[in-house]
Amino acid sequence: MSYKVPLFDLNFDEKEELAVQNVIRSKWISTGPKCLEFEQTFASMFRAKHAVSLSNCTVALHLAMKLLNIQDGDEVICPSLTFVATVNCIRYVNATPVFADVTSTSDLNIDPAEIERLITPKTRAIIVMHYGGFPCQMDRIMEIARKHNIPVVEDACHGPLSEYKGQKLGTIGDIGCFSFFSNKNISTGEGGMLITNNDEYAAKAKLLRSHGMTTMSYQRASGHSTEYDVVEAGFNYRMDDIHAAIGIVQLQKIQEDLEQRILHRKQYLSLLSNNTKLIIPFADCNEFVSNYIFPVVLKGYGKDRRNEMRTKLHEMGVQTSVHYPAVHRFSIFERYARPLPMTEDATDNELTLPMYGKLSEEDIAYVCECVNKVIQ
Ligand SMILES: *Cc1c(COP(=O)(O)O)cnc(C)c1O
Repeated sequence: MSYKVPLFDLNFDEKEELAVQNVIRSKWISTGPKCLEFEQTFASMFRAKHAVSLSNCTVALHLAMKLLNIQDGDEVICPSLTFVATVNCIRYVNATPVFADVTSTSDLNIDPAEIERLITPKTRAIIVMHYGGFPCQMDRIMEIARKHNIPVVEDACHGPLSEYKGQKLGTIGDIGCFSFFSNKNISTGEGGMLITNNDEYAAKAKLLRSHGMTTMSYQRASGHSTEYDVVEAGFNYRMDDIHAAIGIVQLQKIQEDLEQRILHRKQYLSLLSNNTKLIIPFADCNEFVSNYIFPVVLKGYGKDRRNEMRTKLHEMGVQTSVHYPAVHRFSIFERYARPLPMTEDATDNELTLPMYGKLSEEDIAYVCECVNKVIQ
């Protein structure tokens, strides 16, 4: 089905096509100079000491667990209102996810008070996810984490260039993870980045992304090295130059895209804030934010009525989504479930409306007209 207003549209043009063509014509298509350029540009834009390009964000999260040496029986505090990859990574290393509730239906980020309550002698890491690119309460979270000497991983997939009190998301905790999946703010198809200010973590991430080998084939092909040793049971988690070339172009476009999204959010707020059946999360957030999505929460509708609203909007040509089905309700995570009243309220009542840079004022006016008609 084609929608009058889709949820998302790729910010692609001839520049991405040309970048890919150039890499193909160079005949070096795997990890090489484009990955390095993408990493260097990313690190400087995000004001991080190191950026390590990877095949996607799921493996970035896995490597984060490995770098922090999380093991069998360790506990990792995480949200449930997130994409399942945030939590799957904890199981890759046989650790136990400990779900923390979100603050409220108007602040869909992990609740620092919950984090503090859930810390035990077995807690080895805290993973936060900046919902929609709106920053978690990082001052309080870092204070709790430092007090207990627990490292913090930021799943910053939603928040490229988003800020919290002047700092870029992904650089406040110990490790930041980003995704370049097609529907993210920066799209390469598949792709991910791990950023850190810690030299050891960066070196180990580079080792683990390439089989635990001490050199990569590009270094060998360019004559810098002929032999290698294998010092860890590593993985193949590398990005390649085709994806990196697209990423470099996307980085040139992101600032403008984010500025357009900020205007779209303003228009949404002005057209929807009179609807008393809706909560607009993070309505009073004044930070520079990526606006990965535009979420609203219906007041006390429940899952079935929310889904009916979605069907009606789809019939009107407005594509919507739900961010997210709560992870603790999935079969494999039920055994880790605990009472999460705010998360359950949010997951049953949240509705995601279209958001991308190239949306027009007419598109947003139409979406809001449909929403106000359907939800009253
Ligand atoms: C997209 C996303 C991921 C997974 O990223 P991939 O690159 O698809 O592996 C993880 N966490 C969050 C919050 C995401 O939005």
